[in-house]
Amino acid sequence: MCLIEIEKMPKLQIACNTQVTEGMTVLTQSPKVISVRKAVMEFLLINHPIDCPICDQAGECWLQDYYMKHDLQDSRFKERKERDRKREIFGPNVVFDGERCIKCTRCVRFLDEITHTGELTVDNRSDDSTIALFPGAVLDNPLSANVVDICPVGALTDRDFRFKVRVWYLQKTPSICPGCSTGCNISVEHYQNRIARFKPRINEAVNSHWLCDEGRYCFYDLTGGERLTTPMIRQEGGLVPTTWEIALRAVVSGLRSAGSLAGILSGRNTNEEAFLFAKLMKKLSPAADLEVFYQERELTEVEQILVSPDRSPNFRGAAEMGVSSNGGFEPLMQKLAAGNYGGAYVVGEDLTAANDNQSELRAFGKLSFLVVQDIRLTETAKAAHVVLPSTHFGEKEGTYTNRKGRVQKLNAALVAPEGALQDCEIFIRLLEAAGERTSYSTAEEIFQALSQEIPSYRGLNYDVIGDQGIQLGSGGADPS
Ligand code: SF4
Ligand code: SF4
Repeated sequence: MCLIEIEKMPKLQIACNTQVTEGMTVLTQSPKVISVRKAVMEFLLINHPIDCPICDQAGECWLQDYYMKHDLQDSRFKERKERDRKREIFGPNVVFDGERCIKCTRCVRFLDEITHTGELTVDNRSDDSTIALFPGAVLDNPLSANVVDICPVGALTDRDFRFKVRVWYLQKTPSICPGCSTGCNISVEHYQNRIARFKPRINEAVNSHWLCDEGRYCFYDLTGGERLTTPMIRQEGGLVPTTWEIALRAVVSGLRSAGSLAGILSGRNTNEEAFLFAKLMKKLSPAADLEVFYQERELTEVEQILVSPDRSPNFRGAAEMGVSSNGGFEPLMQKLAAGNYGGAYVVGEDLTAANDNQSELRAFGKLSFLVVQDIRLTETAKAAHVVLPSTHFGEKEGTYTNRKGRVQKLNAALVAPEGALQDCEIFIRLLEAAGERTSYSTAEEIFQALSQEIPSYRGLNYDVIGDQGIQLGSGGADPS
């Protein structure tokens, strides 16, 4: 399809593999080029089924787009179309439709050249040619679903997204994957206030064109389950619903009178939230120990191509905002278990989920006051004295700083349920209840404030960060 005419060369050439030379005259729209492109298009469509009405790729298919741009004629092919396998499961995330395949071999080359796992091959020749799994192989590597993104047609589709929603109904919000601290750039694609899928956004400085499978589907765990929509306070019979005013007053007075304090922030909280959380905890107790939730795991060779060993996309940014007492997360948990704290404020993490949960529950029992801010009534929340319903990554605006120090922007794709508040709003209201005067309300205003206080963020703002992020220390905006 990239054929071009070059003066003094008798045959058309492929543009993608032709070196430009001095004095070369290239024609990209000559009558000869246009007619040959049309012929190539017709040839590509000879065996292609008329599947568009039931094909998941319809609406974002290169074959459809190229047909409209370069062909736009009825088929002259009267013979029987070649048949191929339909709905062959290639792996847990990918399904293959052989009749739609145009044999571009992108999928095969991705698995040979990027993941080096080589699960797919081209079988046979001529019109018998087809894409196939090697005998005994399953397309099940940690980056497997990227073949769906690079398949230009509907031959490889995402088993999870298949038949969920037609792509032209999707709204697309640029954001950052909350799966780990690589900070892959994503498009959050949503319909009727629910996330339908993540797609990668190209950013050569971070994830190139790719997403890992774990990150691609992590929104189910991070957004699912029954949402908390009202604050709760502990009374004799257990947790009961209350108003925001009563809950926030109880948090300030409970933490103030609890003695030594621990604050644990999720690594999925934004820089803006971390900045406010650090301010609030220091206001309530200047000696409070603050840490970001952080745990590492072993990565396989293929995961190491993209994935970071944590599940805390903003652990670095939150620490830079002051949520760090230099002891680390594990030592803080040990002090909590040893009963060294009177009060604790846990944001966005179920601390019982990581281990056997009994030790954490015993540790919570030693606290005189526990506040939990989360989107669900987790086991940690059930142990709290006050529970504050908040928002997840897809409902908020803010920034993450990835493991390598790139500051990137999150945007709100969904509307939070009525009754839950943005984490930033909760912290601002608590700061005010604690006697601090604040001059900001939006995430952008909070970022402005933090960029004046945190030296490494000086000169940055949302415009400078843009859609592709900015590396700390690379200059940013003029601080003046
Ligand atoms: S990427 Fe899609 S169209 Fe290309 S060879 Fe693979 S399955 Fe076929
Ligand atoms: S590597 Fe990390 S940031 Fe990238 S898609 Fe996977 S989980 Fe998300």
